[in-house]
Amino acid sequence: MIRLTNIQKSFGKQAVLKGIDLSVEKGEVVVILGPSGSGKTTLLRCVNLLERPQDGEVAIGDFTVSCKHPSKRDILTLRRKTAMVFQHYNLFKHKTALENVMEGLVIAQKMPKEEARERSLRVLEKVGLAAKADAYPSQLSGGQQQRVGIARALALNPEVILFDEPTSALDPELVGEVLSVIRKIAREGITMIVVTHEMSFAREVSNRVVFMDEGVIVEEGKPEDIFSRPQEERTKQFLRRIT
Ligand code: ADP
Repeated sequence: MIRLTNIQKSFGKQAVLKGIDLSVEKGEVVVILGPSGSGKTTLLRCVNLLERPQDGEVAIGDFTVSCKHPSKRDILTLRRKTAMVFQHYNLFKHKTALENVMEGLVIAQKMPKEEARERSLRVLEKVGLAAKADAYPSQLSGGQQQRVGIARALALNPEVILFDEPTSALDPELVGEVLSVIRKIAREGITMIVVTHEMSFAREVSNRVVFMDEGVIVEEGKPEDIFSRPQEERTKQFLRRIT
């Protein structure tokens, strides 16, 4: 479904991704773990070319883009197949929850407004925010804002949703409501790649855990194997530090 091949990304002289290969099956929930600065967010942003790798290939379904010289059209096509949920929600402050969810449908997908409104209301209901459709972001808690961010991604009906530390900006008491929404949509079989520090979430919801360090994938496997029987010393060290 998604195949990243030999993804290489440097910022100046710093090599941040050193030839990453990663495949994700349809319906799979893959969690990326690793120390701060290991390249997790950069890798996620390479999937939709928000970061442009110097080398490598990104394939979603049967659509393949070579990262060296992607055309604008390639980038657009890739973006339409993906949706991203950001750490800081990235909502439009002057638009209501409903308008935030509708925006991508009306502007990018050129969906008629009435249809976009209906679909957006349905996904707002799915994330438990039907009653807040007309609220502005400033009138919502962080957890509610992030649920709008998730609704916005879901509404686009993407082939994969990319979650970039979706709960790390939240007060601890608001993390649970966001994780339970993500858990619910994971169960519906939507393909997801999730960068997170929430170990219990990774353990419970993911099909596969990928552990990164210093721009390489050190180890990957089923969550029960990675958490209970990590093979690599770097994985063991990381898990000892955070659990
Ligand atoms: P992680 O998500 O694992 O914490 P990141 O992918 O955010 O790691 O960052 C990996 C490394 O790349 C870090 O050293 C970070 O400082 C660097 N980096 C990330 N984005 C940029 C950027 N836009 N410009 C320069 N360096 C960056």
